[in-house]
Amino acid sequence: MNDCIFCKIVAGEIPSKKVYEDEKVLAFYDLNPQAPVHVLVIPKKHVTSALDVNEDNASDVAAVFSAVPKIAESLGVAADGFRLITNTGRHACQSVKHMHFHLIGGVQLSENIL
Ligand code: 5GP
Ligand code: ZN
Repeated sequence: MNDCIFCKIVAGEIPSKKVYEDEKVLAFYDLNPQAPVHVLVIPKKHVTSALDVNEDNASDVAAVFSAVPKIAESLGVAADGFRLITNTGRHACQSVKHMHFHLIGGVQLSENIL
């Protein structure tokens, strides 16, 4: 995707502070952290949102979930837990149209999601 900032991060055209990378997945620190640990985990392949997941990109999305335990361990949040969120569309305030999972932790989070 030409004008997608996360595709540009994958391509190395925009710098990022990487925490994990494999063939299909990239994880990097959020520019505007909302918690002591706030990392974005993305498929390298452009997938617009959770609504764009299909048979063709399912293995890329599965790779994200396979990477999460390793990323959580390396960030030191596996034992106490964390939240994994993907905002989808307008009501969820999705601002970057390349599906990403916010991995948020390092602090006791509220019981409320809203
Ligand atoms: P959304 O609101 O789409 O769920 O989340 C987008 C996230 O991407 C926001 O938390 C925002 O801080 C982060 N973000 C936007 N642009 C950049 C960038 O260029 N680099 C990094 N590391 N994070 C970004
Ligand atoms: Zn993209």
